[in-house]
Amino acid sequence: MTAHRVPFDGRFSIGDFSPDPPDGMPSRKALGDELGGLVDELDALQQRLFADQRFAVLAVFQAMDAAGKDSTIRKVFSGVNPAGFRVHAFGRPSEPELRHDFLQRVAARLPERGKIGIFNRSHYEEVLVVRVHPEFLAAQHLPGVDRQRIWAERFESIRGFERHLARNGVAIVKFWLNISRKEQKKRLLSRIDEADKNWKFRLGDLDDRARWKEFQSAYEAMLRETSREWAPWYAIPADDKPYMRVAVARVMVETLRNLDPRFPKFGPEQRREVAEGRRRLEKE
Ligand code: AMP
Ligand code: MG
Repeated sequence: MTAHRVPFDGRFSIGDFSPDPPDGMPSRKALGDELGGLVDELDALQQRLFADQRFAVLAVFQAMDAAGKDSTIRKVFSGVNPAGFRVHAFGRPSEPELRHDFLQRVAARLPERGKIGIFNRSHYEEVLVVRVHPEFLAAQHLPGVDRQRIWAERFESIRGFERHLARNGVAIVKFWLNISRKEQKKRLLSRIDEADKNWKFRLGDLDDRARWKEFQSAYEAMLRETSREWAPWYAIPADDKPYMRVAVARVMVETLRNLDPRFPKFGPEQRREVAEGRRRLEKE
């Protein structure tokens, strides 16, 4: 699965990836049908993941406000057994969380074998919003910060953390929902204009929007430094919602198919057990 995948060689350039879907995008109807099929397949694959008990899957979502993280998660996982996955949304760390290192709160919410864990925002905020707003870093009680080195050090910590997880059976897949500044304006305005979307609007989102360029360069560095074979990033065009959902669902399904989770083998011992079960039930 290489469509939209961010290269692993550290040469990613944000301008090479478009917020618009590629040419020749299928019709709305075709996208809807495909999503339906993928949603069902994801459920079947998660069932095998659970039976297999060797792997967990971690899906990370990062994006600017209004890019569609929540609705994409809602649609793509709508068919999966609710017992088989869990979504965690990470907001500003609490004071108790700030008493730990920045990976602790995500480590505490990792999926167990057999499950899909979904992070709506994640440890990556630590090299995004925290990089763009130095006041967040200042609040982290760190023992001396070398502003020249800190981001490189965080990338190193994150790569090491994810590599460790991968070696231990966590398949990591990361989505950057790439929305354009123009489309974000449209979606923020609809939050203002449509009464049933008002609750989503926060004036603070405009502060992040005002720092668009700084965020884009933070995203670029993040994608360059942390897209690796064991934890790839996908730069998903986000200006068209139906396409975005299908693109994410395709990657999820492909990731699970590649793990190829299996139902446990039925050996002679289990065969004897089921035969015995049948005998007893029939005798009743
Ligand atoms: P939302 O996801 O729109 O509900 O907003 C959550 C907010 O929490 C966003 O503005 C994030 O940037 C912010 N946030 C998440 N993680 C961190 C972090 N580690 N440090 C500071 N702010 C964060
Ligand atoms: Mg915000």
